[in-house]
Amino acid sequence: MSKLVALIPAAGGGSRLGAALPKQYLRIAGRPLLHHAVASLLADARVGHVYVVLAPGDACFRTCDWTAFVDRLTPLYCGGETRAASVYNGLLAVNDAVDADDWLLVHDAARPCLDRAALARLISEVRDDVHGGLLAVPVADTLKRADDAGRVATTEPRERLWRAQTPQMFRYRLLIEALRTAPLGEVTDEASAVERLGVRPRLVMGSACNLKVTYPEDVRLAELMLTHAATLTTAACEDPA
Ligand code: C5P
Repeated sequence: MSKLVALIPAAGGGSRLGAALPKQYLRIAGRPLLHHAVASLLADARVGHVYVVLAPGDACFRTCDWTAFVDRLTPLYCGGETRAASVYNGLLAVNDAVDADDWLLVHDAARPCLDRAALARLISEVRDDVHGGLLAVPVADTLKRADDAGRVATTEPRERLWRAQTPQMFRYRLLIEALRTAPLGEVTDEASAVERLGVRPRLVMGSACNLKVTYPEDVRLAELMLTHAATLTTAACEDPA
């Protein structure tokens, strides 16, 4: 039986947020973003272990309280220049702990609001898939392509367009091969690296709640969602529209 483990790249600086701390350590609803991300993955008993990839000089991790996760969490101080490089370095670092056929869930530290239903759906739908897959939501807005002057050049059809989220779930062997051969500066998610090998990952319905904290206004939104998680109905979190 293949194992299922998670890898969280958390070696970024989060410059778009404009905060003094790297954004994975920003406290939302009383805990760092990274803590929420780890907890959301370990909430599913099928996830055996979480590895977090930190910047080599990270001084914050050891100052936070991780006791809730006892022996199911391991920090790896091997982050790289880009997100993809951090994931690749993390995969190399866990080589002795996983088998080639084991499943890897790669999840952004900056997504603290992953709900149980979406994670459960991803694991259940992808576990029997040949290639792997990712959470994503269909694009709901009308899409405009801008010209150099910031005016609308064209309106793009949105049919069949999805916004990729994380976690993204692939077997170790495929993922490490995809990232080994991809231009790491251009790859912004695991699926795009895998697609370069001619593989078509499965799209699994994500959740509108699973936002990526990137800009200052996202912090307030995430805080509201985490604070009111108990009162948000599961249906509200499952509706991607
Ligand atoms: O900056 P962005 O929001 O795209 O980062 C997504 C995730 O990748 C974050 O969890 C961030 O910490 C991580 N990352 C990383 N190494 C980098 C850049 C980003 O682990 N060099």
